[in-house]
Amino acid sequence: MKPYLQKYKGPSTKHTCPNCGAKKRFTLYVDGETHQPIHPTVGICDRVNKCGYHYPPRMYFADNPGNIKESYQSYKPYNPPDIETPVDYISFNYVIKSKSTESNFIDFLKKRFPVERIRQVSDEYMLGATKSRDVIFWQIDFTGKVRTGKIMQYDPLIGKRIHNKSGAINWVHNKLKQQGKISQNFNLAQCLFGEHLLKCYPQKVVAIVESEKTAVLASVLYPEYIWLSTGTLNGLTLDKCFVLEKRTVIIFPDLGKAHTIWKQKADEISKFLHWNVKVSDLLPKIATQYADNEGLDLADFLLI
Ligand SMILES: [Zn+2]
Repeated sequence: MKPYLQKYKGPSTKHTCPNCGAKKRFTLYVDGETHQPIHPTVGICDRVNKCGYHYPPRMYFADNPGNIKESYQSYKPYNPPDIETPVDYISFNYVIKSKSTESNFIDFLKKRFPVERIRQVSDEYMLGATKSRDVIFWQIDFTGKVRTGKIMQYDPLIGKRIHNKSGAINWVHNKLKQQGKISQNFNLAQCLFGEHLLKCYPQKVVAIVESEKTAVLASVLYPEYIWLSTGTLNGLTLDKCFVLEKRTVIIFPDLGKAHTIWKQKADEISKFLHWNVKVSDLLPKIATQYADNEGLDLADFLLI
């Protein structure tokens, strides 16, 4: 049996909308087999005009392929408090304190582009640096609130990423948790990297790429666009794209399977979002002379 919208049986069947935060206005989709809600974000807001949020199961499973088995095949107790948990933010002071061009990533850029231009771009994205010269890519949302920061190390000569021993990404919110400066229950909701720039430039065309490095690099070269990054291949989601309502958007997928995946994602998102979007095949065209299976990103080509 297919998932269906929970039937109205009094106020307990109406929940808080994850998009607009309105209480008792959100109807959840439930699993057709277990009759349990699929996820606190999967449902529809009844404030059709003011909010319009609708995250259907099909899209949720496309965004979270790993959850299909779990949700469809096994009983999963539903935990209502989840839906009430508001997004947590990090103090903007950390952004201000970390703001610096003393990172290996910036050194890499300085070897190739005018220092003044790099300073401008670094200011716009509010890039930070750690004592060990990692760059901090802050995720500052549309309203100027700080969600977290991604701490990454690069080779200052060739700009390739240097992974730490564990291979895992260092996140500012994790560091602050370890230091006891924020709650252990910090509720992270990532946003697009560069999202805060949407408000500064309401007229500019938006360009979306996967990596933060590409976004910064492309922004040095093509300032006529606002360059945003999803962080990962799976980072192009309806949740994150709500801020792109009514914008003109060009999506630049990396090579390889990314193009197919992002084209599908963009089509799905377009059913729920009014945006003027196209998926660029610029990379596949440039790349015909290269092996398509290397998963190269736009940054690899911008430096050719
Ligand atoms: Zn809503």
